[in-house]
Amino acid sequence: MEPTFIKILLLGILTLSFLSGKILSYLNIKRPVPSVPSSLSEYVDHDKLMKAKQYQKSNYSFGLVTSSFSFLLTFAFIYFGFFGWLDIWLRELIQQPLLLSLVFFAILFIGSDMLSIPFDYYQTFVIEEKYGFNKTSRGTYFSDKVKGYFLSIIIGGGLLVVLIGLVHQMGESFWWQFWLVSIVFMVFVNLFYTAWILPIFNKLTPLEDGELKSRIVEYAHSVGFPLDNIFVIDGSKRSSKANAFFSGFGKRKKVVLYDTLIDQHTPDELVAVLAHEIGHYKKKHIIWSMLVSMVQVGILLFILSLFIFNENMSLALGGNTMAIHLNIIGFTMLLSPISMVLGIGMNILSRKNEFEADAYAKETFDGKPLAEALKTLSANTLSNINPHPWYVFVNYSHPPLLQRLSRLEEPAVDYS
Ligand SMILES: [Zn+2]
Repeated sequence: MEPTFIKILLLGILTLSFLSGKILSYLNIKRPVPSVPSSLSEYVDHDKLMKAKQYQKSNYSFGLVTSSFSFLLTFAFIYFGFFGWLDIWLRELIQQPLLLSLVFFAILFIGSDMLSIPFDYYQTFVIEEKYGFNKTSRGTYFSDKVKGYFLSIIIGGGLLVVLIGLVHQMGESFWWQFWLVSIVFMVFVNLFYTAWILPIFNKLTPLEDGELKSRIVEYAHSVGFPLDNIFVIDGSKRSSKANAFFSGFGKRKKVVLYDTLIDQHTPDELVAVLAHEIGHYKKKHIIWSMLVSMVQVGILLFILSLFIFNENMSLALGGNTMAIHLNIIGFTMLLSPISMVLGIGMNILSRKNEFEADAYAKETFDGKPLAEALKTLSANTLSNINPHPWYVFVNYSHPPLLQRLSRLEEPAVDYS
């Protein structure tokens, strides 16, 4: 492909994906505010739904501004050849190819992060603040930023050194070698996330003995899922929004509950939430989604390997010679429609898994407290109870609330 043609193709893909994303968001925000569904009447009223709509509108307008800004900037970078210009300029200062690529990515990373800080700050301290979600202090916000930088430098930088190093040493066969590295990395992160990464940002304390703990242990025991590592995390220092998750395999398996979750739910609801999470393990969702992501990474790396030494891509981005870092950027953008299709596939799988985990909780514990927990969660986070089906299809990793409720609350089939 000629450089000019590649350039037009890149601009076209960028524009189409921006427009399609915006059209979906527009369709979603134009959905009417529904009348209060009977299953939610104890949790929300019309005013609350109007407030939720206002919150979603604020996020929609904000998203329109940020994504337009980033679209126009990326468009200009491609159109005027700024990526190539940066490469040409750096080549005069740095001869070592690996170092050249690292500095190139570092400049782009720092530049784009600096530009995103004002937007991010506005979202946290203006939008989230206005609706009462934000609990972050300025101190926490900026120390999170600094810690995030260090982590990106160590982890992102480390992976980048391995990737670029392998490309230089191994040529096109770098793809399966880097694939192995990323597989080891993914397993490693899963095993050590709660032990090493989470404590950098949050305080984890073992759940105190008491009613909640004994109820959880008792349920876990009843389904043959031994569970001793239950932790509480101080999520309340950043946001009032609540969450819970599992991490790790086998003996390293841990469950982490946000303090905000414990505050907002009854022990019955919390056990139901855990039953849902245990359902993900029992139905092998965790291991399958991990395998599927690994296959996805492999596919993308393989396709990248076919084009990584393509000089025309570097020229299309404004360079004057083949540069691996230019090609990585160019092909990541060129492959974005494939990544998008893979992402939609992942979401379809994830929504199916959520229904299965709900069903598991309903069978082994009780559907009612889980339904109650989901209602509280939805009301407290001002979530959208009437999303557009197309928006759901593309973007939702979880089924919409009302679909989950109707399955949880339908009476169990009586076979007697
Ligand atoms: Zn789930």
